[in-house]
Amino acid sequence: MASHRFPNLPGLVALALAGVLLAGCEPPEESDVPGSEAEEATVQVEEAADDPAQEDTVAIQDEYVDEVSSVADNPRVQEAFQRIEELEPWTMDNLITITEIPAPPFMEDERAEWYLEALRELGVDEAYRDEEGNVIAVREGTVGGRTLVVSAHLDTVFPEGTDVTVQFRGDTLYAPGVGDDSRGLAVLLTVLRAMNEAEVHTEDDVWFVGTVGEEGLGDLRGVKHLFREGGPQIDAFISVDGGGDTRVLNQALGSRRYRITFEGPGGHSWGDFGMGNPAHALGRAIELFDERASEFVADGPRTSYNVGRIGGGTSINSIPYEAWMEVDMRSIDQDRLAAIDALFVETVTEALEEQNRRTPDGPSLEVDVDLVGDRPSGEIDPDTPFVQRTLAAVAHFGFEPYLARASTDSNVPISMGIPAVTIGRGGAGGGAHSLDEWWLNEDGHLAIQRTLLLVVTEAGLVEG
Ligand SMILES: [Zn+2]
Repeated sequence: MASHRFPNLPGLVALALAGVLLAGCEPPEESDVPGSEAEEATVQVEEAADDPAQEDTVAIQDEYVDEVSSVADNPRVQEAFQRIEELEPWTMDNLITITEIPAPPFMEDERAEWYLEALRELGVDEAYRDEEGNVIAVREGTVGGRTLVVSAHLDTVFPEGTDVTVQFRGDTLYAPGVGDDSRGLAVLLTVLRAMNEAEVHTEDDVWFVGTVGEEGLGDLRGVKHLFREGGPQIDAFISVDGGGDTRVLNQALGSRRYRITFEGPGGHSWGDFGMGNPAHALGRAIELFDERASEFVADGPRTSYNVGRIGGGTSINSIPYEAWMEVDMRSIDQDRLAAIDALFVETVTEALEEQNRRTPDGPSLEVDVDLVGDRPSGEIDPDTPFVQRTLAAVAHFGFEPYLARASTDSNVPISMGIPAVTIGRGGAGGGAHSLDEWWLNEDGHLAIQRTLLLVVTEAGLVEG
């Protein structure tokens, strides 16, 4: 019997990590609910992708603490808070229904149609799907002229055919996507219903939005469309996404992602020797890039790069007809991101030219440079009234908020300087982007009340 080797164990870990990083969502906050070994392993991987160095606690100015608590004390808002607690079973039913409607990448239609109908039934002034597929429900304000968007994303990372049936183990719900972001979608429905039933009115228009394409190769296409040139005027944006109750994302982690494919005719390793070799060009491109990029990122605002996957080829004795790689670059700074991107594309071109110079007689190789991901960076000043209100709303329920950076739907408005935050969907949860994803209703109503409080404070409560 041949000896057993396990050469791909580190590879498996790398794959799991790549899976987490590839998808759009930020790693969830850690949770204290114990899971199985597999769940714990997933949580660890996600924590590895987190960056504690970028989490800051920040002072909340008194005027916003006062403003938020005066809104919270309003009798209608109190009644809405009460309704949220009474609606807990309804919120749970919605969560299960939403989770069990599959929403694979680029296939959010079925879930979107259900969500549109649910918003309509609750009562809004207008509800529709836009050209990109986003669900938009408009609740008009008494004054109008300003628009606040509160959103969650419709898509999941799971491919078509994934079993999304919710399973209970004790009180814990298990299903792919149950937290991310089905729970965010359910939170929004309950916020709207509680506002309607308690007759809480705002001065500004409030849009309840389910976005498409937040995850992975969806590349924020829904939110990009919402903030397109010539699109609607949106003055502030809330994304309910990510776990926990304390984290406030006011900073966007930008990324650029490429799939690069070197191509040639391919041939026999002996008979056609001398012909341009895509694998050799690929290797050279990686070497050149790593050499220069490692120097580039050594100082300045934090920037990362990763050749995540490589592939291609036919057999050991064939000159490949293609060799490819997938590359992810990230930076907290938009200019740095553009700079490392340029450096990368330059090394690819150089490697191609080198390979073609080496094989002057054969047909030239070509390279296909495919930008598969483009998420902008940026940050909103913590002293901005909207961020201050968010922090005050978190603190109002007894939590200690902290500011953080991640990649979510808020990246797009943040990069445009439009006040935007991503806040937690509440409860306890873990295993996001894994088949073992779980969510537990541990004081989940607080997240719904917090979202309502922030919406009403930012959109201007109509007294009386
Ligand atoms: Zn998400």
